[in-house]
Amino acid sequence: MTVVSETDVASSWIDGEPVRTGGASHTVIDPATGAPVAQMALAAPDDVDRAVSSARAALSGWAGATPAERSAVLATLAKLADEAAETLVAEEVSQTGKPVRLAREFDVPGSVDNIDFFAGAARHLEGKASGEYSGDHTSSIRREAVGVVATITPWNYPLQMAVWKVLPALAAGCSVVIKPAEITPLTTLTLARLASEAGLPPGVLNVVTGAGGDVGTALAGHAGVDMVTFTGSTAVGRKVMAAAAVHGHRTQLELGGKAPFVVFDDADLDAAIQGAVAGSLINTGQDCTAATRAIVARELYDDFVAGVAEVMSKIVVGDPQDPDTDLGPLITLAHRAKVADMVARAPGEGGRIVTGGVAPDGPGSFYRPTLIADVSERSEVYRDEIFGPVLTVRSFTDEDDAIRQANDTAYGLAASAWTRDVYRAQRASREIHAGCVWINDHIPIISEMPHGGFGASGFGKDMSQYSLEEYLSIKHVMSDITGVVDKDWHRTIFAKR
Ligand code: NAD
Repeated sequence: MTVVSETDVASSWIDGEPVRTGGASHTVIDPATGAPVAQMALAAPDDVDRAVSSARAALSGWAGATPAERSAVLATLAKLADEAAETLVAEEVSQTGKPVRLAREFDVPGSVDNIDFFAGAARHLEGKASGEYSGDHTSSIRREAVGVVATITPWNYPLQMAVWKVLPALAAGCSVVIKPAEITPLTTLTLARLASEAGLPPGVLNVVTGAGGDVGTALAGHAGVDMVTFTGSTAVGRKVMAAAAVHGHRTQLELGGKAPFVVFDDADLDAAIQGAVAGSLINTGQDCTAATRAIVARELYDDFVAGVAEVMSKIVVGDPQDPDTDLGPLITLAHRAKVADMVARAPGEGGRIVTGGVAPDGPGSFYRPTLIADVSERSEVYRDEIFGPVLTVRSFTDEDDAIRQANDTAYGLAASAWTRDVYRAQRASREIHAGCVWINDHIPIISEMPHGGFGASGFGKDMSQYSLEEYLSIKHVMSDITGVVDKDWHRTIFAKR
């Protein structure tokens, strides 16, 4: 399906309307076919200035609205997004190539639920009780919007990543300038249009679609914002943090992952096999929490490898628009080449390609589900993010060895442990160093619970009440309650008059 909409010409949304920008001409491509989906002029760094000015001008009105007023707009946005679900699904599938089943049952309803969650969260700004901690003053806590938030998002879940950043910011009373990945801007632009229809005042949410090297750099290092939030690769996240640090701006980073999938000898083997295939192939493996390193008890190793290979061989790879398709293409031909090259180098480092490792003929950037067994701990496919439908497998000897291998990574975003022993499950959830540890599952997320990593996976949280905190500043207000001129503490500064 080719999406034809106003986004064919407007790459950006500034001050409440679509804007023709001054950057280079750009075509959004359907990765399943190579066909053009939308044509646009990208934003240029000047457009970032306009968007930031618009967000600054809109800030006081939005931050000053009552929580109930903000909540009402966000609740209307959730309703409009739900009504526009099929448009969002069509845009998401055509620009990313993700299977329509995933977009319809995960990306879009998950995003709508997240908007709905933050409509409610906008009315729950928690604080400690006011009190006379010094004896002579009443101390209270105010939670105030951080200000203008610059947000930069990746291409793998364009709508969800935008919602995870934008909604808590709006709920907190911030105004936002978001830069989606230029290869997948459509659903972010639709989100901004729907927000406007929901009653969000002009300037509170602005979109500038441009390349990372110019528009992304200009936004991350803009003096006129108060905070920079980013989801994407670890390498770019560090550049973004450095650019924001020049101004001392608050940052929040959701970066790459290399999730371990630990299968203990008492695990339900069938559940682990099925979970490993689902967890590694979701979104064609282009998921920061995807299972990438299966670490399996020696006793179960051969059966696990055979079982995963069998389920992977039955995966239907093809047209993402077909509801029977399990696996769509990778995002671009260049990304497929990167994945294929990494897999091709694996045997040279001791890996055994059990299934997959094949790019089918024909148009589109498809790649078969791939299982690489016997990988060494130092090998590239085991250590580096592949971001494709590739699962690596190693064995372990005992529980200590399993935990050591799980933690032998710079990343720390997500992990899972598979066991029927409740004590072992508790130990694994304590010992594994990651922002989320699943027990006997891998991938589920929920609006009420936080998502965010440790180490090279970044810091700060998306989703949940914890992410609302990211966008709030805590202010202490201390009021004298004595009314006396000659305050007791003055004697530490000068002698009594
Ligand atoms: P990327 O880092 O290449 O790009 C992310 C965004 O940054 C894009 O909008 C890009 O245009 C922009 N950008 C690029 N260079 C920039 C620069 N110098 N300054 C400012 N912005 C710049 O990542 P990607 O390839 O789009 O996405 C895949 C990566 O995202 C993977 O590493 C994946 O693990 C990660 N990811 C993490 C999470 C999470 O929640 N932790 C979620 C999704 C994706």
